[in-house]
Amino acid sequence: MEIKRKASRTLMPTQPDWFTGTVRITPLHEAAEPARVAQVDVTFEAGARTAWHTHPLGQTLIVTAGTGWVQRWGGPVEEVRPGDVVWIPPNEKHWHGASRNEAMTHIAVHEKLNGKTVEWMEKVSDEQYRK
Ligand code: MN
Repeated sequence: MEIKRKASRTLMPTQPDWFTGTVRITPLHEAAEPARVAQVDVTFEAGARTAWHTHPLGQTLIVTAGTGWVQRWGGPVEEVRPGDVVWIPPNEKHWHGASRNEAMTHIAVHEKLNGKTVEWMEKVSDEQYRK
């Protein structure tokens, strides 16, 4: 058993090509092989969101604070709130982020396939980012 204390956590640098607005990512844990699951805590300030992307083995989002927006390619923008759990199936194109006027925090859980957890695509335009 390993206990990672909250005080030992540090922010991960964010890649500007993959996000719009202010996003803070704190890695929580990355399991050693043969496990491949990893968890990160992500806070999006109001108006901030990921770029469009997919996950090779899917992703679970557990909303812990604020009001967020999520969208799968071809679907509506949907609002999520604390306690909501979002499952994104493998290879489904999607984005997640804060709502326009309120920040959102979620824990994201995903698994590595050949060392990768995500495939990044184009940014979410202002036209697409609306509810
Ligand atoms: Mn995702």
